[in-house]
Amino acid sequence: MSIRPSTPNSYLPGIALVAMLSVLAVSPASAQFGRSSANRAPIGVQWLGHAAFEITSPGGTKILIDPFLSANPSTPDSLKRLSRYKPDAILVTHSHDDHALDAKAISQLSNAKVISAYEWVNAQGVPANQAMGGNVGGSMRVGDVTIHLVPAMHSSDPGGRPLGFVLEFSDRRTLYHTGDTWLFGDMELVQELYRPNIILLGVGGGPYTMDARVAQMAIRKYFNPQVIVPMHYGTFEGLARAAEVRLRFAGDRRVNMMTPGQKLTF
Ligand SMILES: [Zn+2]
Repeated sequence: MSIRPSTPNSYLPGIALVAMLSVLAVSPASAQFGRSSANRAPIGVQWLGHAAFEITSPGGTKILIDPFLSANPSTPDSLKRLSRYKPDAILVTHSHDDHALDAKAISQLSNAKVISAYEWVNAQGVPANQAMGGNVGGSMRVGDVTIHLVPAMHSSDPGGRPLGFVLEFSDRRTLYHTGDTWLFGDMELVQELYRPNIILLGVGGGPYTMDARVAQMAIRKYFNPQVIVPMHYGTFEGLARAAEVRLRFAGDRRVNMMTPGQKLTF
């Protein structure tokens, strides 16, 4: 009796499957994020300093988040002039000046929609055709972007409650701006619902928000992004410095340490 050895060909489907599974096991999300990125228009992310970002959607919609610019020590001088901004919408996570300071002025200069907590938007006296107040769980559409309002664990007096934002683009990719917050268990639901590909992550610590160690724990426990952009640090005395944040996230290739004014595309 002889045992016939398998021909090499009979192994091939198995080898291919193992190879495929090992690729998936290493990094399912980044493989998915990278594979089709060549076929689609990019998402632009410009950090304006502190928690302020201008996001440009694949379809060209401009979303300005937390515009603290004119008096922001981190904002480059060339980006402090409010009339240069022509966003389609201004998103404000909460009422504090280091997030909301220039929102009303830019809305008057640009006719942009203003999206934040209902009470805060109303208190600003924004014209009805620009006011888009909402609350946790709400969603709104601006251009080719759907904006989901999610919780943040912070305060927002006077006016409304603190929020985070998830931007959902037409190619189904998503970007999460945490606002000012500690980590909280419902971040698990933000992940389950929206699976953010890009996270703009508050890491500054000090008296008011989670620090980089806790922010790193939030990512580890709840999220699986392909891109992390730390923010809300280095602006004032008492917040983490860039060197500390860089050290904390050293070796994590998803982390993009941006400089204020820098623009990246994904
Ligand atoms: Zn803040």
